[in-house]
Formats: sequence, structure tokens, C-alpha cells
Amino acid sequence: MELACLDLEGVLIPEIWIEFAERTGIEQLKATTRDIPDYDVLMKQRLRLLQDNKLGLPDIQAVIAGLSPLPGAADFLDWLREHFQVIILSDTFYEFALPLMRQLGFPTLWCHRLKTDDMGYVVDYELRQRDPKRQSVIALHSLYYRVIAAGDSYNDTTMLAEADAGILFNAPPNVIEEFPQFPSVHSYDALKLAFAQASERDIPV
Ligand SMILES: [Mg+2]
Repeated sequence: MELACLDLEGVLIPEIWIEFAERTGIEQLKATTRDIPDYDVLMKQRLRLLQDNKLGLPDIQAVIAGLSPLPGAADFLDWLREHFQVIILSDTFYEFALPLMRQLGFPTLWCHRLKTDDMGYVVDYELRQRDPKRQSVIALHSLYYRVIAAGDSYNDTTMLAEADAGILFNAPPNVIEEFPQFPSVHSYDALKLAFAQASERDIPV
């Protein structure tokens, strides 16, 4: 049996923190692990900025509800779910992704959680586990699934390597260059074709 595992941000939806920073005008929220390599330091800064700007979870979700999946993403996901069971493996948080998952028809999503206080402020975060994308593929292999995975960034590469077939979608040039073992595509049509080619079944594209 085959499964499709998909990254979320950059593949089906925009980068949530970047979009959120744009919408709220809080420039410092644009910092990523490229600016602050220690993820915990970065997250603590993000949570502090949210508190400083008096943004509780309902405010954050209202902003995110104004975002849309990437153009063509919903149709692509519908196509993929017609031919594969799909699990989305993401480093986002359920509380952030919710308004966008609604627009995608609530596909299966495995990601992290935020902790809020009585006032609705985000006070902490809870990572599901270390290297969660790769661990998920390992677990699915223990159930004897054949896994085809697609993602756009560094945090996907251990998942792509662990999968039976890995595909880069809209990855930046440095990632494509560093991981030439993965086919790299830049449109949903090409991604459909890559999934069909990676499949052991005959899948119409
Ligand atoms: Mg991504």
C-alpha cells in the first residue's frame, strides 16, 4: 500500500509567520531559523512579540483566516487524495493551521501544539517529537506502507530521504543544488506527474 506525505507551508499554504508579519506589520516576526538558528530562542522571541503586541490566539487566528491556500493547492490536494491516502507532516502548529485547513477540507495533519493561558495568550509551544517528519515516515514503514513524500525546504529533507521516493516542490536553488538526488518540480501539474511516476500503480494524470 502506498501513502503520500506532504509538507504544508510552501507546498499548500504560504509561510504562516511571514504572512502573519506582513498582515500585522510586526517586522521582527519575519525572523526565521536563518536569522536565529536556535529554534527555541526564535519561538520564545515570537511568543514575546505576540504578547507585546497584545495578540492572543483569537486575534492571530482571525489574521490567519484572511489567508488563502496557494493558488491551485486545493485542486492539487483533491487530486492527490483521490489517488493516495494523504498525511500532511508539518512543523506548524494546529492552532495556526486551523483556519487554512478548513479551506482545504481538513486533511489529516500531524504537527505541533501551542499552549495558551486563561487570557488566550500563547505562553508556550509543544513539539510533537524530534525530527517529526522523518519519524513519521519510519513509523509508517513499520506499518508496511510505501511512502512518497514532497516538501520545499531543509526541514523536509530527512523525510524525503526516509521515504521510498522524495520530491522537492518549489524549493530554493540552494536546496535543489544540495539535494540533487530528489527530483525537483515547480508546478502542481509537474508534482502530479512526479507522484504518478513515483507510484508503483498506474495513476492517470
Ligand atoms: Mg515547507
